[in-house]
Amino acid sequence: MTPDEFRAHAHELVDWMADYLAQAGNRPITSTAAPGDIRARLPAVPPDVGEPFSAIFRDFEQLIVPGMTHWNHPGWFAYFPANSSPPSILAEMLTATMGAQCMSWNTSPAATELEQVVMDWLRQLSGLPDTFTGVIQDTASTATLVAIISARERARARAGTSDAQLTLYASGESHSSIAKAVRLAGLGAGALRVVPVDDVFALQPAALRAMIEADRAAGMVPACVVATVGTTSSTAVDPLPAIGEIARRNDLWFHVDAAYAGSAALLPECRHHFAGLEQADSYVFNPHKWLMTNFDCTAYYVRDVPLLLRACSISPEYLRTAHDAQVVNFRDWGIQLGRRFRALKLWFVLRSYGADGLRAMLRKHIEYAVTFRAMVEREPGFEVMAPSPFGLVCFRHHPAHLADGAELDRHNERLLARINASRRVYLTHTTLAGRYAIRMAIGQWQTSAEDVTTAWDLVREAAAAA
Ligand SMILES: *Cc1c(COP(=O)(O)O)cnc(C)c1O
Repeated sequence: MTPDEFRAHAHELVDWMADYLAQAGNRPITSTAAPGDIRARLPAVPPDVGEPFSAIFRDFEQLIVPGMTHWNHPGWFAYFPANSSPPSILAEMLTATMGAQCMSWNTSPAATELEQVVMDWLRQLSGLPDTFTGVIQDTASTATLVAIISARERARARAGTSDAQLTLYASGESHSSIAKAVRLAGLGAGALRVVPVDDVFALQPAALRAMIEADRAAGMVPACVVATVGTTSSTAVDPLPAIGEIARRNDLWFHVDAAYAGSAALLPECRHHFAGLEQADSYVFNPHKWLMTNFDCTAYYVRDVPLLLRACSISPEYLRTAHDAQVVNFRDWGIQLGRRFRALKLWFVLRSYGADGLRAMLRKHIEYAVTFRAMVEREPGFEVMAPSPFGLVCFRHHPAHLADGAELDRHNERLLARINASRRVYLTHTTLAGRYAIRMAIGQWQTSAEDVTTAWDLVREAAAAA
């Protein structure tokens, strides 16, 4: 591709991108593709001869786009959102253009130093203590794996402790990435103790304390507790002050997972959910979930940087540079060696919206959730299933003729399928205390009050047709 051809195609793509974002709401939000459909329309063997860009782009539009799920659609209420705001997208274009691999300070000094700056900005905005130092990871799953490995590292330092003795604790509502990290860290799936939750799906500190004592009495070495602010199912908030206190008394690593809800720490009125976070050893949240930043971008904060380096750094001769003693090499702060320049998009986002703009967006989503919840509560035959401290409302349809149980679960499963068949909105589900619940997760940057009302109308229409 010549420089002139690149320029012309780039202009075409920018026009496509601007139209896509402006008209995202006009597209069906989900694909009707059946498994294998798209693959069947793609050649099984690679091209021998280069093809013109126009042919590639035509296939992108005709084969790929219809097979996409449109996360940037204003009717996005599924899972948690993945926000790709315009400034973030523009920064990603520049990141791809420069193509820098930011493993060491030396491999792009600006990338490392900008990462230090934006992570400290985010720390200040989130009200974290200045004893926390941040690094960008690809996902919360990776950050949590790093936290578990750090906890293992600290526990190993105690004389006479073997990995086989280590036990870790998280609630039954904690994210699957924690169980996965325990397994990947080689501690064995059984090392993770599942702590029961209360009636609002928050970890019960008394149960945690009892489990730690029982393990200790059995000769195990309790090493780590993971608390969640904003669980994936229902955005429940574990009591951080009590858990932090137990962690401190028992010398446990205290990791806090706020992958989705961490963005809400920017709001003074939401800070109380994060009280006790100052006791944490590590903290993770995803600007790519609710802070206008393109997937992927995870903020990981730790207190003990030397310990993190001990767990993750390795310096073969071919990576050594003359500056190593004076600089930070983020390759030593996580799993990956090679690192994308993710700080750039965060910098663009933080500067474009400012703290005020980001707070306004978060408040808007929380307000929509309050409104949606009130509509559910007012409507006969519907019930909310959990508290809604952030942008998520869990609810179900409960017609009088159906008792609680499997039949009611199936009724709501069919209801959700009918809502999503509109392809105008997209919602997903979970189970809470064994009951099927529909999740309405509000947090897409293009979503308006009208989109929320549309979703509610579709829910009611689907229920009326049931
Ligand atoms: C989404 C989520 C994760 C996983 O996030 P990834 O960045 O996709 O790994 C972890 N914990 C919680 C509470 C989540 O909601």
